[in-house]
Amino acid sequence: MKSNSSVVLIKTTLGAGDIPGPGRLKELFAANKSILQKTVTALAKVNPRELDDLVHALHQQAFEVYDCLNCANCCRSISPAIRYSDVDQMAKKLRIKPSEVVDRFLTMDAEGDFVFPAAPCPFIDNENYCSIYSHRPKACREYPHTDRARFYQLLKLTLKNAEICPVVYAILKKLSSVAVKS
Ligand code: SF4
Ligand code: SF4
Repeated sequence: MKSNSSVVLIKTTLGAGDIPGPGRLKELFAANKSILQKTVTALAKVNPRELDDLVHALHQQAFEVYDCLNCANCCRSISPAIRYSDVDQMAKKLRIKPSEVVDRFLTMDAEGDFVFPAAPCPFIDNENYCSIYSHRPKACREYPHTDRARFYQLLKLTLKNAEICPVVYAILKKLSSVAVKS
């Protein structure tokens, strides 16, 4: 396929040493925010298939070595958007009516999505286990979205997530060193 891209990616890999501990993330993100912003701008000019291939490979490598049970930053700092089908699943797991799930655990945000009213999520325990894991919302299952097709559509969201998720930070930081003008 002929590409009109003006930025290409040099192949690279990611290992455990590239992924910061969750406690250091805010500080690292602040120190590198400008370079990560420039990277996101550059990645918008990469061939979408080339971008997907590399990001998906880095995602796989990262989660082979990084255990979310040592982190849970996402569950402790942001709420997923929760759909009606998610409410049904949660109700099934909790053995209560969907309306009770809404009344007890959810609120509606400005965009009209159900969300948890406050962080951390009410279902995360002290050892970072999710008590409704098998029936968790779709957005939780898909987070942090670095294995999604057409990743170029998620670049702005990914920049936000780099402040929350150590794996996203590591992927974006790695990409910052391999995105070069063609
Ligand atoms: S439902 Fe589970 S996976 Fe989703 S935010 Fe809460 S604890 Fe995390
Ligand atoms: S998805 Fe990211 S933020 Fe959430 S627990 Fe795993 S590494 Fe942490």
